[in-house]
Formats: sequence, C-alpha cells, structure tokens
Amino acid sequence: MINMSDTKYIFVTGGVTSSLGKGIIAASLAKLLQARGYRTTIQKLDPYINVDPGTLNPYEHGECYVTDDGAETDLDLGHYERFLNVRTSQANNVTTGRIYQSVIEKERKGEFLGKTVQVVPHITNEIKERIQILGNSGDYDIVITEIGGTVGDIESLPYIEAVRQLLWELGEHNGIVIHLTLVPFLSAAGELKTKPTQHSVKTLMESGIKADILVCRTEHNISEDIKEKLALFCNVRKEAVIQSIDASTIYDVPLLMQEEGLDTVTLEKLALPNDTEPNLDQWKEFLKRHKNPKDKVVIGLIGKYVELPDSYKSIQEAFIHAGAANEVDVEVKSIHSEHLTAKNIDKKLKDLDGILVAPGFGERGIEGKVNAVKYARENNIPFLGICLGMQMAVIEFARTVLGLEKANSTEMDKETPDPVISLMEEQKSITDMGGTMRLGSWDCHFKDGSLVKEVYGSSDIEERHRHRYEFNNKYKEQMEEAGLVASGLNPKTGLVEVVEIPSHPWFVGVQYHPEYKSTVASPHPLFVGFVKAVLTQKQKQNNASLA
Ligand code: GLN
Repeated sequence: MINMSDTKYIFVTGGVTSSLGKGIIAASLAKLLQARGYRTTIQKLDPYINVDPGTLNPYEHGECYVTDDGAETDLDLGHYERFLNVRTSQANNVTTGRIYQSVIEKERKGEFLGKTVQVVPHITNEIKERIQILGNSGDYDIVITEIGGTVGDIESLPYIEAVRQLLWELGEHNGIVIHLTLVPFLSAAGELKTKPTQHSVKTLMESGIKADILVCRTEHNISEDIKEKLALFCNVRKEAVIQSIDASTIYDVPLLMQEEGLDTVTLEKLALPNDTEPNLDQWKEFLKRHKNPKDKVVIGLIGKYVELPDSYKSIQEAFIHAGAANEVDVEVKSIHSEHLTAKNIDKKLKDLDGILVAPGFGERGIEGKVNAVKYARENNIPFLGICLGMQMAVIEFARTVLGLEKANSTEMDKETPDPVISLMEEQKSITDMGGTMRLGSWDCHFKDGSLVKEVYGSSDIEERHRHRYEFNNKYKEQMEEAGLVASGLNPKTGLVEVVEIPSHPWFVGVQYHPEYKSTVASPHPLFVGFVKAVLTQKQKQNNASLA
C-alpha cells in the first residue's frame, strides 16, 4: 500500500459543449487503472447551487442516484459503481450548494475569526478539502475528480481555480488534467475541425491550467495529421491526444481507451509504473455475452419520465447486466403511464414479455401504473414493481382483490378511507423536502420459502432506499390471507420491504431500489431473476402456442 501523501489526482475537465460523456471517460479510465491493480475512485463536482440533486426533477439532470450512506447524487456516480464495482459515498459528489452551505455554516459559527469570507480563498479552500477527503482516507492510490460543466462557464470558475492551486501544491507527477473536448465533423467541408478544441484549451490556459491529455470526442476517426495539429496547437504530446469515437455501448469505452493508450499515457504522466497489462477478462466476458444474445425479450418500463431515458438510467443499465447474465437481449420499451387507461391497456401492453413499474413521486400517471399492475397480475406476466411501483401493486391488490375500491397512498389522496400506503408517524411533521426521506442502505429479512429468498440465494440483505411512504401494516394480514405476501421485512422496524404473489408465475414488488446496486461484475440478482422468469414464461407461451 502506498502512503497517504502518495495519492495521485486526475482532474477531468470538459470543453466546447456539455454532454460529451465526461462521466463515462472518467469511469473507463478508472476501470483501466483498477484493472492494473491501482485502487481508484472517482468524484464528481457539480457547479449548481442545489445542495444535492435530490430536489431536482428527473427532467433536469436525469435520475437521482443514491449511495449506501444515503447521499442523493448525480447519476454519474451510478456509472462509477457499475464500472468499478466499488461503492461510492457522500464524499464522491459535491455541489456548489453544499460547498457554500458548509462555508456559510462555518461563518455563522465564527470559524473565520472575523475575516471577510470570499470565493478565494474560502470557497476554493473548501473545494480543495473536499477533493482531498477521498485521497486522505488512505483507501485509494488514485482519485479521479470530474469537474461538471464546461470550462469558461461562470459557475465553474471557483472549481478551476481550486484545481489550479491544488496542482501547484501537489507538485509535478502528483496531479494531472485530462481535458475532454469535441472535434466536430463539418459535412459541407468534409472535414474534422480542431478550432473549438484549440479555443477551449486556451480558455483553460487563461485560468492557469495546462491540459496534460486531450480526449477528443468524435464521430469520425481522427487522422495522425490532425492529432499532430492538435498536439502542436494545444501544447500536448501527440501520444496524449486520445481519440474517443462514438461507441455502440458505453461498456466498449474502456477497451477503446485502452487501444488509444489513455491508461498508459496517464500512468506515465503520474510517474507510476505502467508495465503490467490491465486484466479485463471479466469485462470482456460480459461484453461477449452482451453482444451475442441467444434470445430476446421485451420488457415494458412503465413510468412518467419516459421521454428522457436518463431518468431511469440505473434500471436500463441493470437490464443490460441481467441480459448479459442470461445471454438474452432485453429490449426495454418505455411506456408513458399517463397514457395507459383501462380501455387501451390491452393494445399498449400486449406485446410485452415482462412489466416493470418504475419509481416516482406525485399523482401524475399513477392510475396508469395501477392499470399496468392489474394487467400483469391478471395475465400472468412477470412483474417487478420498484418503490412507487411496489406501492401501486399494493394499491391495485387492495382495490381489485380486497374490494377496497378507494384504497390509495396518502401521497396521492390524503382522505382515502383505506390508506394502504401511508406516512410513518415520524415523517408527518416534516416540511423540508431535501434529504428527509428514508434514504440509503437498510436491512431486509426474507421469509423462508419466499421467491425473493430463492432469487437472492440469501435470507438477509441490504438495499438502498429513497422514499417517504410505507406499506401500512394494518392491512398486512388481510392482504396475506388474500394472496399478497409481505415476504421481506425490516428486522428492526417491521416495515414491509417486499411483497410477492406466490400464485403468480413471478410477481415481486420492492420498496427499495435494487437497480442502484447492479454492476458489470455483479449483476443484481433481482434483475437477473426477473429477466430469467420473463424468458422462461415467454418460452412456455411459445411452446403452448405451437402445441
Ligand atoms: N413517492 C413514493 C414515496 O415517497 C415512492 C418514491 C420512489 O418511488 N422513489 O414513498
């Protein structure tokens, strides 16, 4: 193990435009370094003023990702975990809001001893501290810090200044900058253009930072001539100009980066040994299975943010992992819950082999979700309900099977006579929206003989939560007698974590979010089990229709 002060830092900045995929590049490089034996982690600094993305609508920045320690974070942390199979925490995502909150709290406590509190040095010092928390933990050899936004943005300035200072303090070979940029292709001229990259590197330089490595996003191969030109005008060595061409799957990117030598040049710049080859056997095996499926299933993802695929990022990725594990191509068909009515449901869902009802908040689209649950339950279609999806399964069962027609969650109808999903007492007085849900990792114990116990191959598990409302235990006995079993409970509080219907081929609702914990190296058992059940049920039906 190397000592604490030997931790190396890699800063990833972005130029020209947003959405170039800094998170995937950072995760891919981290994967390559990890595969060479370096203990690597990634951190994301977000320049917005929200304290965390928990209060953001998914349409703004996509899914809110949740860590074991209950941090509500940027979805890039999901990529980090999926690529590295290493858990992230609150320290891995910092926003401008959190930085200011903490500086202002210190100011109120008088910690600045009467000084004027300013962006430089107080905000920049706070940023530098946050960057070094992970490095100083002694758990990592290399920390990759991704700076959100694009260089030149007003709101990124304090971060760029903090990085400049830190590079100076760390000294040569202890910190480097990778600048991700775009090399656009102008079809009228039939040419790739380097000028935007030159300009963004110059902008970075004006802030006192010299890029060590350029990663150039492109739709076409970048010729040696263009690499030379970029190297000359951007002040980097030619080997440090890395092409990042569009890939068919994000999981190809580590291999593409390896071919381009991103890991080798990074290690050289950090003065770390680079003589061993990364061991990517498991990764390649996953890709082989992902790209050579033996069968195909179609699973409906019923949600209300379906226009933006990033809203359900972790679910989409968990299906990719589970598909590879089962050697089956999982087509995820996004279906808007607001458009699902009792009348059109047959038409809209008839081609699905499996149904997943997604998490969510608020009233919009929930009747469509209830209709989708009913369709899955009555037609023996494998079903997985996640969080709000599980709550809708409970509501549907109460309404249709128990005959409690007005059953609802108190989130949707405060006056419902049958609050089968309701707030816990301690949640009732809460008025703050940020960080006040049941968040992070909680224990769950499965009943003997339950489907979930078989699927997980274990009786006791931990899963991540992000919700306020709970299954109302007053209705438990009644539900179980009628066939909906609470098969997973929190051992301390007795809160219901899982419901299932034993008489159905595969019907599971979970109050937690299994999707957050699925990784390439460790596909989530619930998704693997669900996809397997979907495939089995589809094959059974095909056989029946042939007979
Ligand atoms: N809105 C529900 C609750 O707060 C479900 C939340 C979710 O699906 N993440 O309990």
